[in-house]
Amino acid sequence: MTIDDSILLATTSWGHPVETTDEGGTYMKAIAVIPGHPNSVHLASLAKPSVAEIPGGRGVLVKVLRVGVDGTDKEINAAEYGAAPPGFEFLVIGHESFGRVEAVGPNVSELAPGDYVVATVRRPGTSIYDKIGTYDMTTDDTYFERGINLRHGFLTEYYVDDPEYIVKVPEGLRDVGVLLEPLTVVEKGITQAFEIQRRLRVWRPRRAAVMGAGTIGLLAALVLRLRGLDVTVFGRTRKPYLNSNLIEGLGARYLTTTDVPIADGAAKHGPFDLIFEATGASPVVFESMRALGKNGVLVLSSVTGGDRMIEIPADRINLEFVLGNKVMVGTVNANREYFELGVRDMAQAQAQYAGWLEQLLTHPVSRLENYAQLFETLSTAKGAIKVYCRVAEG
Ligand code: BGC
Ligand code: ZN
Repeated sequence: MTIDDSILLATTSWGHPVETTDEGGTYMKAIAVIPGHPNSVHLASLAKPSVAEIPGGRGVLVKVLRVGVDGTDKEINAAEYGAAPPGFEFLVIGHESFGRVEAVGPNVSELAPGDYVVATVRRPGTSIYDKIGTYDMTTDDTYFERGINLRHGFLTEYYVDDPEYIVKVPEGLRDVGVLLEPLTVVEKGITQAFEIQRRLRVWRPRRAAVMGAGTIGLLAALVLRLRGLDVTVFGRTRKPYLNSNLIEGLGARYLTTTDVPIADGAAKHGPFDLIFEATGASPVVFESMRALGKNGVLVLSSVTGGDRMIEIPADRINLEFVLGNKVMVGTVNANREYFELGVRDMAQAQAQYAGWLEQLLTHPVSRLENYAQLFETLSTAKGAIKVYCRVAEG
């Protein structure tokens, strides 16, 4: 079966003809993929949700305004990742949402129509961590993530969910709210690092490094500057370019690894008390381990799907870790707590570095119908920091 056949199959046996979506309001458009089929991104149609779908009168119906896309969406469309919800052949993608509440069930007091909101991504499984709201720490093998795995995402016109998974964004952050989900990944990593460092009784981090100057690297530099640290960001591209300008705009330092190897940068501006790794390249992890100072903490956030092999000075790295009491931690996803923290940091960022967050929103693509352009921009646009879909105005 060719990909085109499978898309046809998907629209005829599961979806409804896309043309019927506009009228009547019962169906809505969505950007979807058929998991397992590379480059299957297409416009699908599904029933418009209603508040009544959520038990206990706790439904919140949200009109989607903007949705960001990232490497995860690219991997899902390349069929490297992602699964459809039970009963569906397609998966609606999009996990970086921003929208406005349209209606709430009778037992919702936390949110009201008109509120701007962002939804969390992961939904609880069955482990003890899931039961206490820390579903980002699940030990279950199967995890549920809206727009990624087994649950539809937000690249559609409306979604409905429980207020537990919907975080209010003040109107003053309306223009940058779509950056909240990627920011939460950073918030979780840095919070976890500080939490781990309570082992030291007294920890006064002064110097931090960020590996990678993409969206996550930029946001990590921002949060570390907001915490008052001296920040060095290592990136591949030679400065000056938008990302290096943004980093310097925070009062952080930008170094190009082509000219300054990480070890040299660390000798001059380190040793680092905290390193946030966000390059997407696993070999950088081992260089980071060496650039980490005594008692330091290294946070790993790159999702590396390949099977790359490299040679490393294992004895030395191990010895330095042991003799230096160093620690390394992996971090994925984020729960509600980090979304709330992200909102507060966004507000502080707007006060301290006014206009900085807006500059990350480099590549808007209007309307769900332009899904092909959205993906084209995601994979080819030079200098893109955040590519996002303007699903609706508001
Ligand atoms: C998302 C996270 C998610 C991770 C793994 C990232 O792109 O931002 O929320 O946990 O992918 O699925
Ligand atoms: Zn993501």
